[in-house]
Amino acid sequence: MSSSHTAVPITVAHGDGIGPAIMDAVLFLLKQAGAALDIDTIEVGREVYESGHSTGIKPEAWDSLRRTGVLLKAPITTPQGKGYKSLNVTIRKTLGMFANVRPCPTYAPFIPTAHPGMDVVIVRENEEDTYGGIEHRQTPEVTQCLKLISRPGCERICRYAFEYARHHERKTVSCFVKDNIMKITDGLFHEVFDQVAAGFPDINSEVHIVDIGSARLANEPTQFDVICLPNLYGDIVSDIAAEIAGSVGLAGSANIGDEVSMFEAIHGSAPDIAGKGVANPSGLLHGALMMLDHIGQGDVAQTLHNAWLRTIEEGVVTADIRDGGTERKYVGTDAFAHAVANRLGQSPETLKPVVYASSVEETTTKGATRLARPVKRLEGVDIFLDWDEGDRDPNELGKRLNAIADSTLPLTMITNRGTKVFPDGLPETFCTDHWRCRFTGTGSDALTNRAVIDLLTRIEDAGIDFIKMEHLYSFDGERGYSRGQGE
Ligand code: NAD
Repeated sequence: MSSSHTAVPITVAHGDGIGPAIMDAVLFLLKQAGAALDIDTIEVGREVYESGHSTGIKPEAWDSLRRTGVLLKAPITTPQGKGYKSLNVTIRKTLGMFANVRPCPTYAPFIPTAHPGMDVVIVRENEEDTYGGIEHRQTPEVTQCLKLISRPGCERICRYAFEYARHHERKTVSCFVKDNIMKITDGLFHEVFDQVAAGFPDINSEVHIVDIGSARLANEPTQFDVICLPNLYGDIVSDIAAEIAGSVGLAGSANIGDEVSMFEAIHGSAPDIAGKGVANPSGLLHGALMMLDHIGQGDVAQTLHNAWLRTIEEGVVTADIRDGGTERKYVGTDAFAHAVANRLGQSPETLKPVVYASSVEETTTKGATRLARPVKRLEGVDIFLDWDEGDRDPNELGKRLNAIADSTLPLTMITNRGTKVFPDGLPETFCTDHWRCRFTGTGSDALTNRAVIDLLTRIEDAGIDFIKMEHLYSFDGERGYSRGQGE
């Protein structure tokens, strides 16, 4: 088939294991369907790792990615062992791919699923949350992982989710957060979601607590349309969604950034079937369809997608597709690709044909609103101690700290793993060697960093080991820190 498009430069990586075979099948189909692509091939994966590049990508490959802004990537094998980094995480984070988009449709009755009619798209924030990987062991007993949620990060992912919904004629965007517990971090995601939603009156919006939202998704996925989540919940929920759709091996995913985007299958390099000619190219094909939409060749994606649906409907499948009662003809990778190519121009008869919007996918997500800086006021400090004396009696620690603190910055509370243990703690509360001691200013003037340094000096002089501190700020008069449980 020919198309009227001008060739768009893209970068292609053939990957490892089944990667080269499924990539060949997909490139064959893209060509047959008339995609206009100017392909630059780069090497990533096992051989690159083993040649001494611990990231799995050669330095010169970055130039290609920056030049084309689009990467179609087959799965790669991440060697096990220390020193090797996940290439996916490296590419996503280095090139600022802030959104991970994973459509999870079902193809009942042709591919078995307990949830016919499910057609959920997961839009997951890809850069922040606990995935900054900022972790510390602070005392012999206690470790921590920093969860960073930024306003620009929330704004970009939420705006992307609504723009995606509008572009793909979706009706509802649901947000999953845990802001009943994490009122500040998840609370910010929720707040920004609501603000962004207000700018899309044509799209419904709703917010669920992530635990019950996930439970409902697992039980009644047809209730959901587009789901927008912070990174960690998105990682978990996208696998749940793909699994219950019954199509983990068929799903594609897009990692979207302002400058560079990456399209792939969600499965790995399947070394157990590599070289056997039986791998299913459909997951990578679905990634490639999202790529075509992204570069403005949605008409080509539509033709190819409908030919694929028709192929599935006629029972031509690869060996990984479970028997679902409908008539099957099992074929290998190449034969499957040819079966799809032979159906170009046809549409499915039972499954709903897909329609891609003709416009280029909106990319107004660039940047984020720069708000006026609020008035920030220092109100106190949480000083964290490694303290393991005697019976770890909080009253003993409270007495010592009260003797150290002065009237500018008195001790107001001690917590252990977030639960208040002084003053008036309960003897049943289990205490570790990690104590958060809150000192709150009493004067009408804002505290200074100097007052905090003086307090730290007195704690040090008393021979008590402080391990970190967090300043307690208000922003435009609004408290910017959580209370202790029981406070
Ligand atoms: P996997 O997805 O490669 O395989 C899991 C199972 O699914 C295997 O039985 C495999 O045969 C089957 N399978 C996967 N894709 C298939 C396909 N297209 N057609 C037919 N069957 C298919 O997961 P794994 O075995 O845990 O990982 C293998 C390697 O892939 C590891 O090195 C892992 O790090 C890597 N990996 C890479 C990516 C990526 O590059 N995006 C993603 C996940 C895993």
